[in-house]
Amino acid sequence: MRTLDADITTLSGVGDALAAKLERLGIQRVMDLLFHLPLRYQDRTRVVPIASLRAGQEAVIEGEVTAADIVQGRRRSLLVRLRDGSGVVSLRFFHFAMAQVQQFTRGTRVRLFGEARTGSTGIEMYHPEYQLLDSVHDAPAPDDALTPIYPTTEGLTQPRLRALVKQALSMLDDTPEALPELVPAALRQRFSLMDIHTALRTLHRPPPNVTQDDLLTGAHPAQRRLIIEELLAHQLSLRQVRLDIQQDQAPALADGHTLQARFLAQLPFSLTSAQQRVLAEIGRDIERTTPMLRLVQGDVGSGKTVVAAMAALQAAANGCQAAIMAPTEILAEQHFRSFSQWFEPLGIKVAWLSGKLKGKARLDSKAKIESGEAQVIVGTHALFQPDVTFHRLGLAIIDEQHRFGVHQRLSLREKGEVAGITPHQLIMTATPIPRTLAMSAYADLDVSVIDELPPGRTPIATVAVSDSRRHEVIQRIERACEAGRQAYWVCTLIEESDALACQAAEATRDMLKEALPAFEIGLVHGRMKATEKADVMAAFKAGDIDLLVATTVIEVGVDVPNASLMIIENAERLGLAQLHQLRGRVGRGQIDSYCVLLYHPPLSDTSRERLGVMRDTNDGFRIAEKDLEIRGPGEVLGTRQTGLMSLRIADLGRDRALLDQVHALADTVMAQAPETAPALIERWLGNDRNRYGQV
Ligand code: ADP
Ligand code: MG
Repeated sequence: MRTLDADITTLSGVGDALAAKLERLGIQRVMDLLFHLPLRYQDRTRVVPIASLRAGQEAVIEGEVTAADIVQGRRRSLLVRLRDGSGVVSLRFFHFAMAQVQQFTRGTRVRLFGEARTGSTGIEMYHPEYQLLDSVHDAPAPDDALTPIYPTTEGLTQPRLRALVKQALSMLDDTPEALPELVPAALRQRFSLMDIHTALRTLHRPPPNVTQDDLLTGAHPAQRRLIIEELLAHQLSLRQVRLDIQQDQAPALADGHTLQARFLAQLPFSLTSAQQRVLAEIGRDIERTTPMLRLVQGDVGSGKTVVAAMAALQAAANGCQAAIMAPTEILAEQHFRSFSQWFEPLGIKVAWLSGKLKGKARLDSKAKIESGEAQVIVGTHALFQPDVTFHRLGLAIIDEQHRFGVHQRLSLREKGEVAGITPHQLIMTATPIPRTLAMSAYADLDVSVIDELPPGRTPIATVAVSDSRRHEVIQRIERACEAGRQAYWVCTLIEESDALACQAAEATRDMLKEALPAFEIGLVHGRMKATEKADVMAAFKAGDIDLLVATTVIEVGVDVPNASLMIIENAERLGLAQLHQLRGRVGRGQIDSYCVLLYHPPLSDTSRERLGVMRDTNDGFRIAEKDLEIRGPGEVLGTRQTGLMSLRIADLGRDRALLDQVHALADTVMAQAPETAPALIERWLGNDRNRYGQV
């Protein structure tokens, strides 16, 4: 039976090889083709007058050849002049055969499609698709719909993809009930939503009168319908997760105040009032048997680690374990050192587990976790692998959550559950996000904000310096190190290649060693063994290394208060969020700190604006807002790759204005049509959940 639900291989002409390519696009079932929406469109529905062509426009034109010459410019090319009643245009072919030259005799009629651009003769089209016409009457009818351009993958052509989608659309015509409408009619009317079949048909075959601009910005009603449905499904799924978890039992962590008081007494500082407020919020949550689901947002350096430590103590004081998970080995290792230092004097045992811990050490660690001897466990996501069993996990803390996606977060939660006891969850992030966005991405969480930095911090003075003045920067490092301070030099690379980034860091280290022979220079990068990295970081923290050359592995969380100078290379290529994270490695103590953004001129407007923002402010929330403005949204919630939520059609940034509607719609669905929620979730997150469930 050929149905929309069936595997993609049931379509004629789809064998294993093609199925593998489609799988790369997330297409497994015939139905998935319908949700594989065009990136953009070409308008081949009408022939436009030549005179109306603008650079950048793709269009069909038709005209008569007036000349065809081989010309010697910078490159040899065939230049054909074409005229219609309105004007003239040049066609340029850099690759051509003699037969082609002869085709274009004077007076020949040509219909063609291409992109107009500004060339040396005015408006030109390079290598257009063309067709010779015998006479005016012979012209074929233009297309009756815009031509979709789909996201594709190597070895899969647009015509092929279009033909497949066409098959899927005709199956939809035959069996419309296979794709049920999941938003009840009353709600569609109230929120003015198009029905789903019309929406999908419109997007795959937009009629000629559709404004392309609407389609490109997601503003067309057909897109709006699908965007809202997708966001609704995510919202419902997060709410469902929350409801499910709230049915579970968590241990009540009511005691611990004596232990916390002893811990605070040994700290060299007292908590800020923001830290105290957030701790009180956490305290109220974990005293209860309903599992806590709380996100703590706090700018870099706001002191989230101590807050986590206080919560962990409360778990330990109640005979439960606390697990702290960090996204990188370096950060996990650093937390392990801090927690050990803080907790061992209080008689609390801290254990370590990461993916790189092997052999006997790993077995030992796991045994301590299982027996309950380890009360606080610090590590990477290795903590939540199936072979790790906790004795009695009462609290799971996830640091720097913006590095993990929503689904990862959810699946980690399940791993923590043992023998009917669900741990309380504390998630910490330095990525400040506006409220409506937070309500979407974190609909399953309560949010606390640490909106104050510890006292006495002087803002980091930031300058942008052209890399032609590198020697001055090196002198600056020399002065800082002579004064007993430490510095970072962060190498970032243009290509996303780990290997190249490491090579560049090594080369920079060698260059700096030569320039600064009196100082100890260390190196960390992603390709070093975990133990090597940890040793270098420990030496830097102990002050044995003056200058640390690093790749962006040090981006999150690293804390060395004596470091007061941060150099960031190729700063013009980084986003604001990343620059802010990197800069946050300094300015963590009482000393004046500096950040030098080295850039390679010339600067683009966007880069100039970004560097300007960094110079003007240290405030993470303002930087996040600016980031939204400048970068064009979407990526602000974390890099696309890690994707806070993996959305197929919606874009949390672009579609921000729809979020309030989505939340209202979710309320209504829960109240009036809760039975449709599972199907909506399945439609939009079905595959994802399976994929991520196996973390
Ligand atoms: P982040 O929120 O970025 O994770 P950390 O927890 O690493 O920040 O804290 C940054 C630095 O501030 C650390 O050196 C920490 O010891 C220090 N710190 C935290 N809280 C306070 C406080 N209330 N007063 C002074 N220093 C503090
Ligand atoms: Mg931190």
